[in-house]
Amino acid sequence: MYQSNLISKTRKQISQTEESLNAQILIKSGYIEQVMAGVYAYLPLGYKVLKNIEQIVREELNKISAQELLLPALHPKSYWEKTGRWESLDVLYRFKSYYTSTELALGSTHEEIITPIAKNFIQSYQDLPFATYQIQTKFRDEKRAKSGILRGREFIMKDLYSFHSSTDDLDKYYELVTQAYLNIYKRLGIGDITLKTYASGGTFSKYSHEFQTISDIGEDTIFVCEKCNIAINKEIIEEQKTCPECDNSDLIQKQSIEVGNIFKLQTKYSEAFDLEFTDESGVNKPVIMGCYGIGISRLMGTLVEVFAVNESKMLWPESVGPFDIHLITLNTDSEEVVKKSEELYIMLQKEGKDVLFDNRNERPGIKFAEADLIGINKRIIISSKTIAQNGVEIDGQIIPFDKI
Ligand code: ATP
Ligand code: MG
Repeated sequence: MYQSNLISKTRKQISQTEESLNAQILIKSGYIEQVMAGVYAYLPLGYKVLKNIEQIVREELNKISAQELLLPALHPKSYWEKTGRWESLDVLYRFKSYYTSTELALGSTHEEIITPIAKNFIQSYQDLPFATYQIQTKFRDEKRAKSGILRGREFIMKDLYSFHSSTDDLDKYYELVTQAYLNIYKRLGIGDITLKTYASGGTFSKYSHEFQTISDIGEDTIFVCEKCNIAINKEIIEEQKTCPECDNSDLIQKQSIEVGNIFKLQTKYSEAFDLEFTDESGVNKPVIMGCYGIGISRLMGTLVEVFAVNESKMLWPESVGPFDIHLITLNTDSEEVVKKSEELYIMLQKEGKDVLFDNRNERPGIKFAEADLIGINKRIIISSKTIAQNGVEIDGQIIPFDKI
């Protein structure tokens, strides 16, 4: 794509109200735009990154036989009353239809929707297990929304729900999801700083597990066992003072961002909605469930917090950057340079590369400053100087045309 065709432009200054580094960089680089506190638009560059993150998540979940679907964002009150969360969930947006006075909620999570749907497809143990997930917009009336896309009032989440006939089967699938999550974080380039973390499980099981990415700006405090490469959330450290896996008491306190959370729901929601199955001996039992979330848009913000070099320079991991290559032409007044760089642009595209091509007639300083903000992992510079050496410049080195 020609950079001159991008609808967004980079900018030097943005509104003072954006405190977080991720929002500052993403707005300056033209990836996102703030609409109001906690609500953002994803512009073409930002949307490409979001889609790339989604795709990695999708691929890893499809490998563990989860099936993608799409649930509604508009929910009837009656469903939320069944679980008592119409009253108890403080972040739930609730409102009335103007015409029918029906009371509605905007989905902040989807146990209340998927459980009654699953009822239509589960009769006996032979219908189990299965798992479904969606990647969708969630709405939460967050008290504070000052962390850019790390905490939106509207944000993108992947939520997966699994259904089982025994706790053993749930436990097995829970391990598969854990592994899939670790693969996802690894492919996003944050595998070594994202830790499975023991956290409170609510009323229905001893622990839940979070996935926490170490970052000084993170809102969560965790205690890391460097032997096992796991952590314990501060919220349970009073009850769990040593590593749950090796009993090590030498734990290191760090700040972190919660990028995923998985729960064994057991029968909490199946009981609320009478979701039952008949077992091998003909006895009716509640279905055993698990739920598993990943903050897709929060992950995008986390990558900025982790990989930004400073507030004017970002470097996306190759796996999710908006383009594979940023091709930058200098000396655009030279016919030869223009011709050569067009040829190179076409060649790279033929090789299947997604290229952002900056052939604008701008000063090199401006082009490089913008490229630093945009943060594409691989940069190819072509100029009179590099052509004189029969090549291009990559990472400060001249690479011959036939070796690119
Ligand atoms: P937090 O404690 O940060 O408020 P949570 O525990 O309420 O999050 P979950 O219900 O576990 O969130 O949601 C699953 C995942 O969705 C979280 O692990 C997080 O990555 C992401 N997430 C939750 N709330 C937000 C939000 N307001 N904006 C962006 N991502 C979010
Ligand atoms: Mg959570």
